[in-house]
Order: sequence, then structure tokens, then C-alpha cells
Amino acid sequence: MSSEPKLWPTPYGPITQRKIFANLLKDIIRTNKCVYCSACASVCPTYAIQMLDDVPRLLGVCIKCGYCYYACPGTVEEGFQGFGDYKDVDTRVFGTERTERFGVYRKIYVVEAIEDEDAFPEEAVLKAILKFGMEKGYWGAVAYAGRDTPVTEGLLSYQVVGWKSRPSYALKPSDVERIKLKVFTHPPTILGLRGIVDELKGGFFQGVEVPQVAVLGPPEHIRSIWKGRLSWAGHTKLLRTVVFTASYFHRKFFQPTKLLPILAKKGVNFNNISDVEYGSDSIKFKVGDKWVEFSFEELEPSINKAIEEAGDMTGEYADVSAGRVEGVDGIVLIVRTEKAEEIVSRMFDEGLLKPLDFDESLVKSKLNELYGGGS
Ligand code: SF4
Ligand code: SF4
Repeated sequence: MSSEPKLWPTPYGPITQRKIFANLLKDIIRTNKCVYCSACASVCPTYAIQMLDDVPRLLGVCIKCGYCYYACPGTVEEGFQGFGDYKDVDTRVFGTERTERFGVYRKIYVVEAIEDEDAFPEEAVLKAILKFGMEKGYWGAVAYAGRDTPVTEGLLSYQVVGWKSRPSYALKPSDVERIKLKVFTHPPTILGLRGIVDELKGGFFQGVEVPQVAVLGPPEHIRSIWKGRLSWAGHTKLLRTVVFTASYFHRKFFQPTKLLPILAKKGVNFNNISDVEYGSDSIKFKVGDKWVEFSFEELEPSINKAIEEAGDMTGEYADVSAGRVEGVDGIVLIVRTEKAEEIVSRMFDEGLLKPLDFDESLVKSKLNELYGGGS
């Protein structure tokens, strides 16, 4: 018998081991590295993976294709170390390496905040960009996870209740305007994308043309899109539908089953929350006419630590990202690609975004500070 290892053919050359969901369970889920992006569930051809409240689980038939493993932002593979080798990823995504800790960028702006009762100020700016981009024909759909009707209801084994985040999509500019965000439980962002492809075109295995999609999500979920695309399994049509990504800066997300009992201790019923606000070290929930505040320390057992540890504070691989930075008036906008630069500049021309005067070196140093430690 030959001692040569068995090789698995892939579109990017042979690999010695094709890893599957069992490996994802061992390498990522059981080691608490899951950022709950739902990329694994979204690329699974048999819908075998369900996003339960806290982690993905295999509840269906696995045909051992491996797509889930290689789409996961936390995995590495032969010839590709994923985000552990950020210089490699920078070069593959942007064609150049970063010179700042907050990543490769083309332009930084500070813009006036936009009022929106269903979105935090930075999300409202991103909604305006996503609406404009759709109106001008840059994309035909927006995938996100917020508080709207879930698109993959039948696929979600968790109960969608109260303020829990759920995957959704918008197909018209007026729908983008109505998107409800402000989520605080970890959002299954990429299932919104799968929802578009499945529900509009009958499945990504049928070889049909799928719409061009913009994805809105937290930094580590934009990474999922790139990880899936750059891996050997990245030929899946699902991830190829994405033509634009928008990210809000890092914030803490909570695991629902662990969060609910902590909220209940102060009489907060998840189903009765009517508004939410993040502070720098706490979060406030509005119930009736009262605001109830919880420090992050109190909520610590329910924080998704993998999101903390992913360490992407500014949406390093999004076309555009937005966030609030202490000491800066207005919303900081990081524009990382040519397409985003064109869109933002058109919005400035049309008065749809208002640029503010700011000290660029100060903002850049504050962005680098988000990464902790020295510069
Ligand atoms: S069928 Fe493929 S994508 Fe689905 S769980 Fe199995 S290995 Fe993962
Ligand atoms: S990080 Fe994303 S792709 Fe990886 S296991 Fe968790 S939900 Fe699945």
C-alpha cells in the first residue's frame, strides 16, 4: 500500500484533509471561538446547521462537503492562515498592507449624526449609505440582522422573541430606510444573505443569477464574508453575491440564554424592552417609561467573548465603516475602497451626508487607541 497521503481535490489545488462540521465543533464552537456570524449555517447545502440561541448545532444530515469549516472566520487551512496572518488578508482584499492598526483605508471623515429611532447614530449613517447605493444601482438588496421579520424563519430553531436579533433583508430603498437595528444579542448576519439567495432565486445550487447584495454587520461578520471568499470553498455562489459591505464599529454582544436570567434579576423582561442605549461600560434598557442600566461587569457571563477576542474594532474589511469615538463630535467614517469613496463623495455632493471639520491625525490616533496598548 502506498504511504502517500490521500489528497482531496479543490478548486484551489489538492488538500490533505477536508475538514467538516465535526472539526468546526472541536476547533471553534467547543473552544468558545464562535462569533455567531452564521456563515457555517448559511453555506451548508443541506441546511443541516441551525443557529440555536448561543451557538450553531448540527441538527440535519451532513454530506461532509466541508463548506462550513472553511467559511468560518476562526479557522485556518492549508496554505491560508486566515486572519491570524492579517498582512496576507490585507493584501488579498485590498492589494496592499495596512500602515495603521485600524487597517487599510483610503479616506477618513467625520460626518454629522443622523436621527433615527430604530438605529444607533452610526447605524443611521450606514443605513443612509445603503439606501443611496441601492437607489443608484450599486446593489439590489441589503442583508443584515436586526429586529425585522426573519427571512429564514423555518430554518431557525431558536424562538424569535422580543428584541432578539434575526436575519433579514431589504429589497427596496424605502425598506432600507425602515430597517430596525439596535440589536444587542449576537446577530446571525450571514443568514440574511442566504435568505435573499434562497427566497428570491430558489437556492444557490441552481445556477441562477442572484442579486448583487450589500451586507451590513459587525466587524467580525464582515470578516466571515472574506474568510469564506478567500478559502478554497470560496467559490460558493452565496458569498459571490456580496458587492459591498458596511460595518459599525465593535460593540459587545450578548448570548440570549445567558442574558435573560441576568436581566430578570432587575425585573427586565426581554419581551417588553422598547429601547436600548450602549454606554462605554454599560448598557441601558427602556421598559415602560423607565431606563434600567446594567454594567458590562454584571452582564459578563452572557458576553460573547469570541467577538471580544476577534479584535477587529473598526470593521477592518468593510468597504465602509462608521462609529462613535470618544472625544470626537460626529460619526467617524472609514472609507476603505474606491467604490465606497465614490458613493460617499456623491452623497456629500447631494447633501445627503454632511462632512464636519476634524483633526485627522487626532482621529487616526484615537482609532489606533481602540486597539489598546501603544501605537
Ligand atoms: S453538509 Fe457540509 S456544510 Fe453542512 S454541516 Fe456537513 S460539512 Fe458542514
Ligand atoms: S464563527 Fe460563524 S462560521 Fe464559525 S462556527 Fe460560529 S457561526 Fe459558524
